[in-house]
Amino acid sequence: MTDERKFLRKCIGCGEYKEKKEFIKITAESKTGEIFINPLTNIYGRSCYICKDEKCINTAFKKDKISKILKKRVDVELKNKIIVLLHK
Ligand SMILES: [Zn+2]
Repeated sequence: MTDERKFLRKCIGCGEYKEKKEFIKITAESKTGEIFINPLTNIYGRSCYICKDEKCINTAFKKDKISKILKKRVDVELKNKIIVLLHK
C-alpha cells in the first residue's frame, strides 16, 4: 500500500496531483496578506499550487477561485506575473 498522495500537491486549476517541484506555489502571508510567488523560505500563510501551464493558471483565476482558496483578494496583475514567470 502506498500513501504517496501525502507527499503530492494538488493543482487548483486541473485538480491533478503532482510533486511540489512541478508547481508554482502561491502563498498569502497570514499577517500582512502579502502574496508571494514561489517563496524561497517557508512563509506562514495559506498556500496553493498551480501547474506551470497557462490553462491551469487561467482556470485558477476564473471566478476568483484563487482568491477564495487563499482567502485574500488577488487581482489579474498576479496572474500576469505568474504567466511572465512561465516564459522565463
Ligand atoms: Zn494543473
